[in-house]
Amino acid sequence: MKNKFDVIVVGAGPAGYVAAIKCAQLGMDVACIDKWMDADNKLILGGTCLNVGCIPSKALLESSEKYDQAIHQFNDHGVNVNGVELDLDIMQSRKARIVNELTNGVSALFKANGVNVIGGHARLLDNSHIEVTDIEDVVNVYQANNIILATGSSPVEIEAAPQYENLIVNSTGALSFSEVPDRLGIIGAGVIGLELGSVWRRLGSNVVLLEAQDCFLSIADEQVAKEALRQYLRQGLDIRLGTRVVSSSMADGKVTVDYTDRHGTCSEKFDKLIVAVGRLPNTKDLFSDESRLLIDEWGFIHVDEQCRTNLPNVYAIGDVVRGPMLAHKGSEEGVMVAELIAGKYGQVNYNNIPSVIYTSPEVAWTGKNEQTLKTEGIDYRVGAFPFGANGRARAHGDTVGFVKILADTHTDKILGVHMIGPNCSELIAQAVIAIEFGASSEDLALTVFAHPTLSEVVHEAALDVSDIAIHTAKKRR
Ligand code: FAD
Ligand code: NAD
Repeated sequence: MKNKFDVIVVGAGPAGYVAAIKCAQLGMDVACIDKWMDADNKLILGGTCLNVGCIPSKALLESSEKYDQAIHQFNDHGVNVNGVELDLDIMQSRKARIVNELTNGVSALFKANGVNVIGGHARLLDNSHIEVTDIEDVVNVYQANNIILATGSSPVEIEAAPQYENLIVNSTGALSFSEVPDRLGIIGAGVIGLELGSVWRRLGSNVVLLEAQDCFLSIADEQVAKEALRQYLRQGLDIRLGTRVVSSSMADGKVTVDYTDRHGTCSEKFDKLIVAVGRLPNTKDLFSDESRLLIDEWGFIHVDEQCRTNLPNVYAIGDVVRGPMLAHKGSEEGVMVAELIAGKYGQVNYNNIPSVIYTSPEVAWTGKNEQTLKTEGIDYRVGAFPFGANGRARAHGDTVGFVKILADTHTDKILGVHMIGPNCSELIAQAVIAIEFGASSEDLALTVFAHPTLSEVVHEAALDVSDIAIHTAKKRR
């Protein structure tokens, strides 16, 4: 293997592997370094997202949803299924197969685009040199004109509930249970807690979520968060807000969690406990002191709007820098940086990055929410429409939730779109495109939407901004 490249990318997650491919497509000689090994010490590409994040969690969400529907919803469609049985081994093998196919897919893309792959732990020495220690402790130094750091993030651990064998686990362990726990405790009712809590609830667990904040899903629009909480509680997720986990202990193969809330001190016994209280950037042992790379107090690499670090020709992208920890945000930063290195124009619109929570109903949003608009003193109008009044949603038997559009009072420009309901993970793309094109609510209102589709809810919400929704009995404002 040669040791000089135009670009070296550290990390082959969705930020790093996309950056590496894009650099290669733009004619650069690229190497991508990663240290993720499987049980046989084989290098695996794809990072958190493909191996233990987005993909395996969505595979289990889909499988568990089908199981839940077979038990609780098919009969309503006149499809009588009796004796529905869960085969968790098959469900888990299917998940593993999908992960395997996709990580192999990244290897194939690297090959096709001529990206060189280096296995081992990378450490930045200065703005053009990287030291790599491989699995046999052999150290090599590589040189590059440009370096992109994309080392991702890892789950936060808390002292009150340290990882313990397969009893107290993080999200990675929670994706691989070989049995459905009877009672499942989750510390943190954030995105991971809600998605993985939904998986195991559907498969039969009694799930209790212990959330530190008094406010539920504070990152979402308040009205959407309120409806989401109502739906999750109705489904049986036992979400307890304002709790502080004090300690945990193990006995007889079970975990006891002691916590305080407004009632005082409480204690709960679980078969398994998942800790899902956020993630922190992977910057430990990533750079030498001499390199003088700047990081903040949490360990995030300091970057500007275009992901430049304080070192010339060194960039950082994805979870290891500020902004939402989302795969698509990291990938877009990867494309932007590759274009900048190639001397082209590159940018990411950080005001229009969609977020999705893949529970049922799905929750999705992009742009600003009502709380932010109020804080920023921006005048806005609201249009909203419920899925319950939509023909397709009724045909699906999926009528919970609504779409809400926020538009500037003076210009009518769409500022944010927030939704909860069926297929919102797909519907939100319409809002992202509209905002990206600088659309007004009137632009959406004047657009033709196919009937019968769930998209008509977006259309009616846009009409409602001007109080002209058709399928509504609501009094005009
Ligand atoms: P990562 O994917 O973490 O990749 C970093 C890579 O760098 C890893 O392969 C690691 O081995 C390598 N690395 C680290 N340090 C070094 C080093 N010193 N030397 C060599 N290699 C190194 N996001 C979404 O957008 N949608 C979802 O549905 C979603 N679901 C998720 C579900 C779960 C359970 C979890 C945990 C996360 C989920 N995320 C989701 C978040 C998403 O996985 C991350 O935002 C995304 O993976 C970040 O990409 P990245 O490339 O920055 O980092
Ligand atoms: P999160 O920030 O979404 O939620 C963590 C929750 O834990 C918060 O509600 C927080 O208040 C709570 N918390 C923190 N400390 C606590 C404590 N000591 N006791 C009780 N509660 C506590 O983090 P996450 O769920 O771990 O997810 C990590 C990241 O992964 C997120 O930033 C998210 O962007 C990403 N992710 C995205 C998706 C998706 O896009 N669908 C899915 C999973 C994960």
